[in-house]
Amino acid sequence: MRVLVKLSGEALSGEGKKGFDPEKISYLTSEIKKVVEKGYRIGIVVGAGNLFRGSELKDLSKERADQIGLLGTVMNAVYLKDCFEKEGLKTKIFSQIVNLPDVESINYDSIESAIKNNFVLIFAGGTSNPFFTTDTAAVLRAREMKAQIIVKATKVDGIYDKDPKKFPDARKIEHLTLSEAMKMGIEVMDAEAFALCRKLGIIVKVINFFEPNSLLKVLRGENIGSTVLPD
Ligand code: UDP
Repeated sequence: MRVLVKLSGEALSGEGKKGFDPEKISYLTSEIKKVVEKGYRIGIVVGAGNLFRGSELKDLSKERADQIGLLGTVMNAVYLKDCFEKEGLKTKIFSQIVNLPDVESINYDSIESAIKNNFVLIFAGGTSNPFFTTDTAAVLRAREMKAQIIVKATKVDGIYDKDPKKFPDARKIEHLTLSEAMKMGIEVMDAEAFALCRKLGIIVKVINFFEPNSLLKVLRGENIGSTVLPD
């Protein structure tokens, strides 16, 4: 099974933190390794919230601030490739925005061949355009690697009708459609990403990635997290 895992930059730094936390990255690597060893074909879209988000760079024009955010995703990809390879995971980075050694440009045949040869694929550089997020990039790259499922790795164990950290009576919604998610203004992914998932028929599974084995469990079909289904 082919799966696109969307990791936020904070998966590399810890919630609300900046930079790289070797412990967090070692955890992340081991969670990815477990599923690769079970035969799942994994593509990763990585964010850059641990380095720069365009919205945080208020003194710059939005275009330039977002370019810096995009470059942050490349830094994360390079860091992860090194860590994955130290753990024996063959890894390739694909991106349209930089010309660096070991970073390949996005090409459908190269993606297919990397998957067939058991590489972990890391997609860096978002959609390549400002004004988007890495959630939308995750949907585009899922389609390019022919994955039907995106696992959105979050810090909450699914989708709730209100913020469970603020409201103790928040109710978990285990299943909903993409249209319902958009109508309800569910913020786990942005509206552009949900709209593209709906158009392409891609399922989104939301898990608490920081719960050990959650990625493996959700891929095995265990009833954890929340599932957003095409209508
Ligand atoms: N970004 C962008 N276009 C994209 C994807 C990302 O301009 O297609 C920029 C944007 O500035 C964003 C930053 O890269 O804030 C990091 O991405 P994101 O906020 O999605 O990272 P995450 O919150 O998942 O760590």
